[in-house]
Amino acid sequence: MHSITLLDEIRPHWVERVSHRLARGEDVRALFRKQLNEFMGFLRQAILTGDPAWMNSVIDQWIQSRTQSEIQRQDATLSPLLNHMLLATMELAREKLSGDDGLTLMSTLLPIYTHMINYTNQKESERHIEYISRELNRVRETLERLDRSKSDFIAVAAHELKTPLTLIEGYASMVREQLPPQLCDSHTMISLKGMDNGIRRLQEIINDMIDVSLIDNDMLQLNFQPVWLGQLLTMVGNELQTVVEERNLNLVVKEFKGSDEMTFADPERLYQVFRNLLTNAIKYTPDGGRITVDGRELPGFIEVTIADTGIGVDEADHDLIFEKFGRLGEVSLHSSGKTKFKGGGPGLGLPIAKGLVEAHGGTIWVESEGYDEQRCPGSTFHVLIPVLKETPDKKVSRLFSSLVTRDASTARASTPGS
Ligand code: ADP
Repeated sequence: MHSITLLDEIRPHWVERVSHRLARGEDVRALFRKQLNEFMGFLRQAILTGDPAWMNSVIDQWIQSRTQSEIQRQDATLSPLLNHMLLATMELAREKLSGDDGLTLMSTLLPIYTHMINYTNQKESERHIEYISRELNRVRETLERLDRSKSDFIAVAAHELKTPLTLIEGYASMVREQLPPQLCDSHTMISLKGMDNGIRRLQEIINDMIDVSLIDNDMLQLNFQPVWLGQLLTMVGNELQTVVEERNLNLVVKEFKGSDEMTFADPERLYQVFRNLLTNAIKYTPDGGRITVDGRELPGFIEVTIADTGIGVDEADHDLIFEKFGRLGEVSLHSSGKTKFKGGGPGLGLPIAKGLVEAHGGTIWVESEGYDEQRCPGSTFHVLIPVLKETPDKKVSRLFSSLVTRDASTARASTPGS
């Protein structure tokens, strides 16, 4: 007998059995019966044409009707339903048909059910991936919004703090100037010096906040001028020499190939980068340690390295420390000394350094075996600065044109064989 006739023979029993087993309540059962009858209609078409793809639209419809929370629970798939339907078919083929007819029907239906199960798995995975990427996008948007609010907060806070700080600074200098000489005892002078220090630290923090918001909002403007990195590094080293001695550290600023090469960059901003990196090296290296500033010339770039024998940075934090407020460790251990061992700041130094280096078209990264306060494996910060022989600012370029020509001929003269 033809499979269609056999299917029609068991159909009413099958609809009854499946709906009874899988649906609760008469209303739900009636609706489900309707769906099962539609399913049977497509199954007939699939048998008639020999094309199991006829079942795709029913599966699609069932998958589409699943709720968001069902998709979330990955276990709620259609496969158990299809298994139940196949099982009921096998039971009825045994109960209602002869052995041969049952075998004929099952051998026609099995490839169709296999197709349905494969198709279901594929479609459900696609739907789940869609759901996950939608969720990821949502999380990304939330994070971006949070980052924007963080950035807005920094900008507003910096602006709001700047005005009262200028007032305090003004009044402090008035007090100093108006103080009668007989009152200028050491006690008063110590208090005034303490105030000055506090004002300076606050100014540094506010300036850092302003820099972060300039970088975040792509508003940083570089003032390109001729720069010799070697000179810049020596200047930073000299500035920090007193602190280095106080902390009994050994700071060496080496000369390297390329350190005396002229490049266009923003000297103030690069000074800020290297000052930040050296201050960190001082801060995170125990007394008696060594800090070495070195570098090398690479095609189109100059690489500067600042290596210390300090506590090091955990591999998992190599990227994190360049994020805003990426300072590691406990806030309660925060020390206010800027160059004291492990004396933390607000965690803006490295993100600013990264923003400034990237604004120059360069890169910055850290290398360290890991964090260990006992063993002190040290860290090496690498800064790659592009060598620019022309400034992007055309007016400035004309101003320094003679310098560029002179630098080029000096370079030619010093090339072996020229
Ligand atoms: P902070 O103001 O906390 O120093 P930074 O942005 O300059 O902020 O640095 C972020 C974090 O990176 C620091 O809190 C510290 O944990 C780590 N770090 C920076 N430089 C070094 C270094 N030379 N050695 C070890 N850890 C460092």
